[in-house]
Amino acid sequence: MAAPSALVLRCETCGTEAPHRVLRGKIGGKDELVFEGTVKCPTCGRVSAIVMREPKPIQVPLIVSWLEKSERTSLEFSPDEEVAVGQELDLGDTRIAITAIDSGGRRVAGVQARDANTVWAKRVDQVRVKFSVNKGNRTVPHEVLAAADEEFEVGEIVDLGRDRAVVHHIRTPHRTVREGRVRADEIVRMYGRVVRERTSR
Ligand SMILES: [Zn+2]
Repeated sequence: MAAPSALVLRCETCGTEAPHRVLRGKIGGKDELVFEGTVKCPTCGRVSAIVMREPKPIQVPLIVSWLEKSERTSLEFSPDEEVAVGQELDLGDTRIAITAIDSGGRRVAGVQARDANTVWAKRVDQVRVKFSVNKGNRTVPHEVLAAADEEFEVGEIVDLGRDRAVVHHIRTPHRTVREGRVRADEIVRMYGRVVRERTSR
């Protein structure tokens, strides 16, 4: 493992707590990560030799649900790091939020990573937007996948695969929007009507 280029430390000479440049150093250790090296204080310029130890990261089993599927994976934590329901984390290119934690057979709201047996999470970077579409004599429920921060606008035409529909109004938890745009994760339901198109062949 490569040594870091800087470490946040408290200088023994001037007392500054700041990123110290690593002049040289290496990381080793079996049961914990041990850094041995020489660092320089950014404030007073003092160069000192240090040894730092920190616990090795652990893999916590993670179950991520997305639409109707659940995927088993794991996430790396420092053993004494706090894990809590509602916390948002990056998982590869996706963003997840922790929904439940099992610790010793119990559901807990928060725990140190070393005591978490399983963590459940859901993806929060994408949402399902409900869209009721009027097709003349009937209304058909649809769902549109969108990035959480994607916006839908009244008057916009949404591709539903076989059909396309125009958005008439958008309901949010607080109001009905008849003009303007709304973020996907704030939409309770959109209402619209199928648009007839000239067939292109
Ligand atoms: Zn200093």
